[in-house]
Amino acid sequence: MTVSLSVLLERGDRVKDIKSYSLKELEEEFVTELNLPRFRAKQVYKWLTLGVESFEEMTDISKELRNNLSNTYYISVATIEKKLVSVYDKTVKYLFKLYDGEFIESVVMNYKHGYTICISTQVGCKMGCSFCATGKSGFSRNLTPSEMLSQIQSAQKDLEIRISNIVLMGMGEPLDNYANVIKFLRLVSSEDGLNIGMRHISLSTCGLVDKIYELEKENLQLTLSVSLHAPNNEIRSQTMPVNRRYPIEELLKACRHYADTTGRRISFEYAMISGVNDSDECARELGKRLKGMLCHVNLIPVNNVEGNSYKKSRIDRQKRFIEILSKYYITATVRRTLGSDINASCGQLRRKTISDDI
Ligand code: SAH
Ligand code: SF4
Repeated sequence: MTVSLSVLLERGDRVKDIKSYSLKELEEEFVTELNLPRFRAKQVYKWLTLGVESFEEMTDISKELRNNLSNTYYISVATIEKKLVSVYDKTVKYLFKLYDGEFIESVVMNYKHGYTICISTQVGCKMGCSFCATGKSGFSRNLTPSEMLSQIQSAQKDLEIRISNIVLMGMGEPLDNYANVIKFLRLVSSEDGLNIGMRHISLSTCGLVDKIYELEKENLQLTLSVSLHAPNNEIRSQTMPVNRRYPIEELLKACRHYADTTGRRISFEYAMISGVNDSDECARELGKRLKGMLCHVNLIPVNNVEGNSYKKSRIDRQKRFIEILSKYYITATVRRTLGSDINASCGQLRRKTISDDI
């Protein structure tokens, strides 16, 4: 598994993406390639973790070395292009601009137990789910580990807070950008870096089965969320094209294996769409499929997205779903909606910005 540590800047230089290095990798490179003492890497790494955006800001390093470093390396940043704050609950949504002019979104939510950030892992997404704004705008490219870190650092700096939880539920399919996402997870949870523990991280996937087996072997203590959204192949293939490649039986087999092997509870996401997947029969089918698995179901009233006619299920349907699932000993809760006035679910702001620009 390799992660590219260099990027091609707009001005045409190929420079190395310093924020995608681990401290150990940077130390090795400083010593063997740049002839620098090991402690210099530690010094630079500390600044990078603090979120500096240029080598100029590294004030305890000589000007000459700062110049040398800026010819070899590039510091990835996520620049705030737009910021929306919810008047209801102070949820903040960012549209960030990347070095090549691409846009991504992140959302910061303030819960009782601290700040949670929802970050993007790709610019766009290839998976094309019919209810999702990101899926509708197509795919541009994968994010680097440093670009995932930069979303957290920019938000922390702007809001003057420390983020304690991360969910990989923004734009993109994390397991479709596997190597970069795993590298990011290792960097962000490292004691040398932002030091956000794996137990405070959730990764959400639409269900790339082979990658779920790979992730299981990484032995990470994170929470795996699986976007299920349907109890059978017929409905799931209609809304989630990925189901045609990995049918629900294979997906749930992988989930059971993951839960059994890691001992960690899987979180199933289920966006309730009125008249599509919210009948009593759907709840019973779901209950039968999940029975006996170490899991929890998060019911999410579907967010309306421009260009489709999906409607949220009514509250009585949500309650009924929970009641039926409980008969199969499956716990389910309705996820609280935050930032409803700022379209906090990801993909919508980027889409709007792109279409405004055209
Ligand atoms: N690609 C990953 C993670 C990003 S999407 C995945 O699909 O899991 C994050 C979550 O938002 C997923 O559970 C996704 O199904 C859900 N989602 C997307 N559009 C939505 C909408 N319009 N309403 C409710 N949930 C939505
Ligand atoms: Fe991609 Fe997830 Fe949106 Fe599906 S729901 S299109 S997998 S981001």
